Amino acid sequence: MVAIKNATRALCTTPMCLQLAGDFVKNLSPNYKKIDPCANFEEMVCGGWRLRHEIPATQTAIETIRVMEEESAGVLRAIVEGPYPGDSVHSLVDQDNFETMQLAYNTCMDENELKKLGVAPITNLLDELRGAFGGDDWSQPLLFTSRIGTNSLVLMYVASDLDSPDVQLVHLNPGAGFSLPNQDLYTNTSMLMDEYAPIVASILQAVHGNGSATADFTEQARQLVKFEADLAAINPPRSTSFYELATKASFPEADTLAPRLGLTKVYAALAPPSIPPGPGNLLWDKAYTGNLNQLLETTPRSAIEGYFTWRVILATQSLVLADEIFQPFTTLRNRLQGVTTADPEPSPRWRTCLASIRSNLGWVLSRFFTERSFTQRDLDLSNQIISDVRAAYVQKFHTLPWLDDPTRAKAMEKINLLIQKIGYPTSNPNLTDPESLRAYYSGQSTTASHFSNGRSAQAQALRRNFQLLEKPTDRTNWGDFYSVTVNAYYAPDTNEIAFPAGILQLPVFGGDLPSAVNYGAFGAVAGHEVSHGFDRTGRNFDGTGRLVDWWSEEVLVEYKKREQCFVEQFGNMTVYANDRNASGKGYKVDGLRTLGENEADSAGIVAAYDAWLLRRELDGDKEGGLALPGLEEWTDEQLFFLAFGNVWCGLISDDGLKLHLQQAGRAPNWGRIMGSTANSKAFKEAFACGAKEPTCELW
Ligand SMILES: [Zn+2]
Repeated sequence: MVAIKNATRALCTTPMCLQLAGDFVKNLSPNYKKIDPCANFEEMVCGGWRLRHEIPATQTAIETIRVMEEESAGVLRAIVEGPYPGDSVHSLVDQDNFETMQLAYNTCMDENELKKLGVAPITNLLDELRGAFGGDDWSQPLLFTSRIGTNSLVLMYVASDLDSPDVQLVHLNPGAGFSLPNQDLYTNTSMLMDEYAPIVASILQAVHGNGSATADFTEQARQLVKFEADLAAINPPRSTSFYELATKASFPEADTLAPRLGLTKVYAALAPPSIPPGPGNLLWDKAYTGNLNQLLETTPRSAIEGYFTWRVILATQSLVLADEIFQPFTTLRNRLQGVTTADPEPSPRWRTCLASIRSNLGWVLSRFFTERSFTQRDLDLSNQIISDVRAAYVQKFHTLPWLDDPTRAKAMEKINLLIQKIGYPTSNPNLTDPESLRAYYSGQSTTASHFSNGRSAQAQALRRNFQLLEKPTDRTNWGDFYSVTVNAYYAPDTNEIAFPAGILQLPVFGGDLPSAVNYGAFGAVAGHEVSHGFDRTGRNFDGTGRLVDWWSEEVLVEYKKREQCFVEQFGNMTVYANDRNASGKGYKVDGLRTLGENEADSAGIVAAYDAWLLRRELDGDKEGGLALPGLEEWTDEQLFFLAFGNVWCGLISDDGLKLHLQQAGRAPNWGRIMGSTANSKAFKEAFACGAKEPTCELW
């Protein structure tokens, strides 16, 4: 590497810097001094990381973000299993919330009680479901599955209207009909009938008890799998987004086109009482819903009933403890995740129960997590980094020669209207106020029955979603993007970005780190999300979240030219598995399907770097910040990219890579690091690479 001695810089020796620097050093390839960063930056930065990590037996890949999730799971477990953290800032209400959470967790952890019950709670629930069958339409089974937290036939939820984003209305989105993770899997008939259907049959048999012959379930399973395959076949192509297909209709119109769904009845049952009676509107994919209606007319009733039965079992299987369904579900999950290990260890019970607390009382858990792992200083600093990243985009929009003035003005307006959510919500619920948390969960009951707790939480989540119909769009709402989440998002229909406390942890972010590290790692994540507002999906929405075309024709021609560069850059990439058993076989990346994410990675790092320069300018810190112990030879600029690379270190097996390339919407981690750095002029300057121009550049 190119070492520019920078001996005058002071060292950062806070415990956080020491910890992070130690990790960065250990993550470097043992050979890193001999590696040319311009040729293989990923190996240089992550070679040692790979030696220190191993893919768990139940998975086919591991990466920095997963390791962060593991660490966070340890913290969360300590919270739910530990004593109430009582001190002066707490109140009795806080303690009450905590005890409710702990009751729910302990109830879930009571394996003896759960084993005694076995599959009985599901068997009883299926008896209830049978009561919902037999109507002229499928509205009652639709309602039934919605209330236990799963969607059938269509994905139904309340969200903002595409052309009046302040209005909330029901969306009927295709894509929730079938049970396997994506529709392409349904074209593999032998997998469906020889592997999937027998697993379904054995589970059906288990939950229905011993009264019926095995053959009945085999036939029922094959019928319902066939129906799922039919649903997958009428689903829009995977590359199509809902907004491209959605049109508006009233519920009576919907009933005329799709009488078999009985949507007016569904709406009447779910809309809150305060909504004045009336026709109500929905957004739907009209073609899909019409085809669905036809499919419901031509499919035998027994197949559709079998399908609803299967959806109910899938939605509730995690709430029971019974070997007879646990084994087949494990086999199915492993098959779908490409895990070939014969019999991986079952995941420990505390993980299942933590997941259940997160899904049922996620904001209570989030309160105790943020209190422990996210300070006011973290909040202020991450806010500042995001604001700086936005300022970098503003600067970019000002100067880009291929933007014309009207498009430039719209882009500026959009970036200025962007809503940034960081750490935790302060309304609905206000995480800092125990009363607000109690009110938020007041409609759901927590008792000594794990199964009832799950049902109650799901029913309440559905009610809460439909309550959104009562008011104009609440742009402060975080939905169920809990603060413990190790992820971030951009939502085009509200023009907002969200970074929960869970992602604002080492090595992505730390309150005591040099700015090069925070901007290189978190700044790039922030820049990535902001760029989604201007990617192939996000660019179709304006600053208020309205679906409207605000691009002039000439600008769009230039935009698409730049997009095409990314399609080719990533489409020409060959990627390899890099675990111990890697075959050495190369695979191609789908440059088109991964376009939005690849652009976002590249734009993210460019914006983060510019944001960092702006910050240094503002702070009068032209020399840069503190050095990290053991990394003194790295310049500040090099440290920025070292921090970026560390976020995307990973190990992936051949099976994992094949699965990733089929299913994920982004390049594998190696490609993310290599592609983004190839697209960064600052990277090439920092490491004195030959050619300095980025390979591709959009923003
Ligand atoms: Zn993204």
